[in-house]
Amino acid sequence: MSISFQELEALMEQNGTEERIRQYVRQSVRFHSFAPPGLLIGVFMVDLALEKLGAKPNDKLYAVAETSKCAPDAVQVITHATVGNHRLRIMESGRFSITLNRLASGKEAEGIRVYVDAAKINAYPILNQWYTNDPAFKHLTDRDMIYDEILQGGRNILSWESVRVLVPRKAQWEAVTCPVCCEIVPDYLLKNGTCVTCAATKYYKKSP
Ligand SMILES: [Zn+2]
Repeated sequence: MSISFQELEALMEQNGTEERIRQYVRQSVRFHSFAPPGLLIGVFMVDLALEKLGAKPNDKLYAVAETSKCAPDAVQVITHATVGNHRLRIMESGRFSITLNRLASGKEAEGIRVYVDAAKINAYPILNQWYTNDPAFKHLTDRDMIYDEILQGGRNILSWESVRVLVPRKAQWEAVTCPVCCEIVPDYLLKNGTCVTCAATKYYKKSP
């Protein structure tokens, strides 16, 4: 589900969305290739986390997203903490939440965790129906209303907390060759003596 860039621009105009947020939305939508509701909520989450952390988008930041749905792209685009540069971890719990922290030398880093607050999103009935996957939600007729409620609500559907993020230790590793596929992998990724792809269900089959 999505709306066009033009429709989104019009809704941001109608709702008097702040210019900073509009820029984040445009960048995120361009990267994501369309504008799902979760991406927009993600933008507000990142914006709030940055503010509470006292950080700017160009600071070197680390992030955890507890959902793989849409929100990680807002994190990647706005903060440049990406899956590829290992500064964004996705730790799927299903909670719609992101955490940002700065680089830390110790085992813990001061961070800000932002999440969709069930008690607050309640105040936005259509958005809440969509968020809770309520069968009463009407995909066609209620679509624009969700976007309207996201833009009206902004950070008002969110809560945040100060947290201490446990900094993952960099694993020491050696290169080993999987005896089945003969490709090289880090030793800590071996499972029962083979690479995980050979050990478990493959995500592909060889073409004939
Ligand atoms: Zn293998």
